[in-house]
Amino acid sequence: MNEPNRMHAIVIGGSMTGLLVGRVLANHFGKVTIVERDQFPPEPSFRKGVPQARHIHVLLVRGQQILNELLPGLDEALANAGAPTVDWGMESINIPGGVRLPRFESEMITRTCSRNLLEWHVRQRVANFDNITMRENCRVNGLLFDSTKKRVTGVRVYPDNEADDDKGSVETWEADLVIDASGRNSQTPKWIQEHGYKPPQETIINSFLGYATRWYKVPEDFQADWKAILISGRPPDNPRYGGIYPIENNQWIVTLAGMGGIYPPTDDQEAFLEYTRQLASPLIYQALSKAEPITSIHGYRNTANRWRHYEKLDRWPNDFIVMGDAFCSFNPAYGQGMTVSALSAMALDKHLSTYARVKSQKMQKVLASTSKNVWRLATGEDLRWPTTEANTDELGLTTRLSHRYVEKARLVYQRNPDAARVFFEIAHLIRPPTQLFHPVLLGGVIQDSLLGLIGKETETSQLTVSEF
Ligand SMILES: Cc1cc2nc3c(=O)[nH]c(=O)nc-3n(C[C@H](O)[C@H](O)[C@H](O)COP(=O)(O)OP(=O)(O)OC[C@H]3O[C@@H](n4cnc5c(N)ncnc54)[C@H](O)[C@@H]3O)c2cc1C
Repeated sequence: MNEPNRMHAIVIGGSMTGLLVGRVLANHFGKVTIVERDQFPPEPSFRKGVPQARHIHVLLVRGQQILNELLPGLDEALANAGAPTVDWGMESINIPGGVRLPRFESEMITRTCSRNLLEWHVRQRVANFDNITMRENCRVNGLLFDSTKKRVTGVRVYPDNEADDDKGSVETWEADLVIDASGRNSQTPKWIQEHGYKPPQETIINSFLGYATRWYKVPEDFQADWKAILISGRPPDNPRYGGIYPIENNQWIVTLAGMGGIYPPTDDQEAFLEYTRQLASPLIYQALSKAEPITSIHGYRNTANRWRHYEKLDRWPNDFIVMGDAFCSFNPAYGQGMTVSALSAMALDKHLSTYARVKSQKMQKVLASTSKNVWRLATGEDLRWPTTEANTDELGLTTRLSHRYVEKARLVYQRNPDAARVFFEIAHLIRPPTQLFHPVLLGGVIQDSLLGLIGKETETSQLTVSEF
């Protein structure tokens, strides 16, 4: 029997955050309704509410651990659907900033698949919970408040969203808790203003990163000592990124990207291939020259880091929480979004186990601290580019000093497999960013600095990718 204030929870948005949040709410509420504007496809395929699904979607090790814990059987289902695995230490080629990382023994193995396949299998498992209902084709267009305007009591919904134009009948659905998980274009700032609340202050750090993605069939006779390749640019000279990511059914997703408005071409297949020649390594170009494209090229440019500071508002309604990209979204190049969704869902689960009554404002602060480290990693890297624009003075002395340290640490992990492992574990969110000062990295940086002082540069700091 559920507490009277835990009868019904509504989640706005049925993408990765909405599904994972719905899954943990099922532990605590009598009934959970996930409201999604799209009609869910009957099989793993593209839907318009998640336009980013065409592009590489790396699920970091930390995210995979949580998904497997929340949804037993998920990994097996993905494997049965033909999704391969990648051991990021031994089976991937990583070229951050123009120099290839050494291989290292690791337990960092993830199942790699398209975003469509992952979301579909997550959704099947979430839908299996008896107390979770999915309402597709339903668009929320406002919040309901009580007469004191102190608490959210439900949502206003267009139950037949086909027109997408606020025509037709509108319904009101009551709930004891409402979660907004409607993504980057969340309307919460507008919805709370309609009820006398201030909109949140926003921090936006935009590196003007653009994506272009095409899927390929892996050539039948293809043989290589790698399964995935990730090449990143180096500020300020080479803004070009590229990746090959193996997915189900022997396919590759190939995503090219450019910082600072150097966008990869989306309309010309020759130019797409030509862009791969300008990456810091010829490996992607070489692999693609034998592979057959199976889709057209799709672009994506809405990639700014954006934090809506709900945690800083003096006044915040009870029984309402904003989560996932609707609250804080990151430059996707670092592959963190879905893992932050998973970490946030776990934080909500803990909150609901601790407090009999949801403390919305406190939860909003918890979410801020869950996102803070990831935000620092993503924006710290973006702010290294002179073309990045920020609406805040994040480029203070500490940031500049940390950039200098990170640049020196890069030289260490580019030559030392133990340091490469630490770096990767930070990137996969299984170690906190403070581990950039792990003795293996800090020791290397100090050693390099001392050698620099006596005029002897460390050898590998001179290497370029062509020497591997
Ligand atoms: C190009 C790109 C590449 C990315 N690559 C990665 C990656 O490699 N790894 C990674 O972890 N993350 C990646 N991400 C981020 C990841 O896609 C998101 O962080 C993740 O999907 C969680 O987002 P979300 O569920 O909060 O919002 P979204 O995924 O944006 O979903 C919002 C959902 O809400 C629905 N909705 C919107 N408005 C309404 C409404 N009014 N009523 C009802 N429903 C509504 C939408 O239809 C949609 O289903 C990438 C993002 C982009 C843009």
